[in-house]
Amino acid sequence: MQQINEECGIFGIRTVPAKPLAHTVAAGLTALQHRGQEAAGIAINKDRTIRYHKGLGLVHEVFSAERLNDLGEGNIAVGHVRYSTSGANTVSNAQPMVVKHIKGQLAVCHNGNLTNSYELRSRLELEGCIFHTTSDTEVISYLITRKRLVASSIEDAVRLAMQDIRGAFSLILMSPAKLIACRDRFGIRPLCYGETASGDVVFASESCALDAVGAKLIRELDPGEMMVADEDGVRSIPCFPERKKDALCVFEYIYFARPDSIIRGCSVHEARRRSGAYLAADHPVDADVVIGVPDSGLDAALGFSGESGIPYGIGLIKNKYIGRTFIAPTQDTRDSMVRLKLGVVSSAVKDKRVVLIDDSIVRGTTSSYIVSLIREAGAREVHLRISSPPFLHPCYYGTDVDSAGSLIACGHSVEDVARITGADSLAFLSVERALSLCPGYSPDSYCAACFNGSYPDLIPTVANKDRFDDITPGQIP
Ligand code: SF4
Repeated sequence: MQQINEECGIFGIRTVPAKPLAHTVAAGLTALQHRGQEAAGIAINKDRTIRYHKGLGLVHEVFSAERLNDLGEGNIAVGHVRYSTSGANTVSNAQPMVVKHIKGQLAVCHNGNLTNSYELRSRLELEGCIFHTTSDTEVISYLITRKRLVASSIEDAVRLAMQDIRGAFSLILMSPAKLIACRDRFGIRPLCYGETASGDVVFASESCALDAVGAKLIRELDPGEMMVADEDGVRSIPCFPERKKDALCVFEYIYFARPDSIIRGCSVHEARRRSGAYLAADHPVDADVVIGVPDSGLDAALGFSGESGIPYGIGLIKNKYIGRTFIAPTQDTRDSMVRLKLGVVSSAVKDKRVVLIDDSIVRGTTSSYIVSLIREAGAREVHLRISSPPFLHPCYYGTDVDSAGSLIACGHSVEDVARITGADSLAFLSVERALSLCPGYSPDSYCAACFNGSYPDLIPTVANKDRFDDITPGQIP
C-alpha cells in the first residue's frame, strides 16, 4: 500500500549506576517502531567501551532476549529504528553508527535528512575521508570527529559540526562519558527529554517512548539546542543564538507521530480529532456514517463525527499481522494487497452514505481501492475527506514524500482526484487549518513545505534523494 514513511526513531538513556540497559532501549525503540521498520540497533557503553548490535528488521526480529542479555550492563545507551529515505537499506547503513577516533568512541543516532550532505561528503572526500556507507549519518560522524581534533570537548565538537550541516536532524550521541541530544536550528524533527523516578535521563523522538520506559516527559528540546547528560548532571547549550524561526514538521501531527505522544504540549490524538472537526466544519456533507482508514484516519474520523453529529462507525479493519516478509506486490497486484491489509465491516456501510476519512492521498491508487472496497460492500455514496492538505512538493527533510511527478494532486484538480479515486465528493484540510492543529503556536512555526512549497532551510542542490548511490566510487562531483 502506498504510504508516506518517516525516516527514523531515536532513543538514548543515561543511568547511575550501570544496569542491563539493552532491554530498556529495546522497549523505547519498540514504542518508536512506527517511525522505521527496516533496521534497528542498540549500542551500550560500559566503562567507556561501546558494544553494539544492529540488523535489518523490526526491533523484536533483530534483538532476541539472548542478544539483549549479551549486550550486558552499561550506564549510557542509545538506539535507533530506521526507514531508509537516504542511502540503501543495508546493515552498514543501520544505526547507531559507532566510530573510533583519536579521543575514543562515538555512537551516533540520527533522524532527518541533511540537505547539504552531498557537498559535505565531497569536501570530506577531497580531504581524504573514505566513506563506508551511503548514509548522512556517516557524514555527521566524520564532521564531529574532525571537529573534535580542535574542540576542547565532545559537545563543542558537536556544536561546531551543527554549524556546518543543513536540513533536518535530531541527533542522540554517546561518547565514552556523555549522552548528548540535539536538534537542528529549525527543530524540523521532534526530540524530547524525560526522566525516570530514579533519575535516569532519557531522550527520545517522541514522548510515547518515554512512557514505554517509565520516564516522565520534562520538555522538548528547543530548535538548535543541545542537551548533555554526564556525571555533572544535565545541561543545555543553545547552538544557534541568532536563530529566527521554528519549523516543526506539521505532518508529525497528521500522520507520523503516535497518537499517544505529546508534541509542543499538544496531544497528537487531539490534534487529529481537531483536523476531523475542521474538515466537518469546512466541507460538510449529508451522510449516515463516518469511518476512518486505520490507523491515523481513525482519530480524525472521531473529530468529524463529533463536529457533524454523523455517527462514527468501525468500517475498516486493519490486519496487523502482515509482516515485512510479505512479498511486496507488483503494480498489478496492489488491489489484492489492499484487500489483504484492510477488511470492510459490511454492516457498517451497506446501504449507507459513507464519509471516509484518510490522512493523505499520495498517488491516489490506494484511495481508489479503498473507495471501491466500500462500494462493493454496499455503500450508496462514498465521500472522501482527507485530514491533510494536498501534497504538491517533495520533502527533503527525512520523509519519503516523493517528487512532484508522482503526487496525484500535482496537475490534477480536486474534482479530477475525486473522479480518479471514484469518490462522490472529495475535500482536503486547508493549509491554514493544518497549521492550527496545535493551539497556542503560530502558523509560522511549522514546516509545511510539502503542502505550500515554503522550505524553511536549504534544499539539496542535487535533487536525487538517494544521490550517493549514483556516485561511481572515486568520482568527484
Ligand atoms: S516537507 Fe512536509 S513532510 Fe517534510 S518536514 Fe516539511 S511538513 Fe514534514
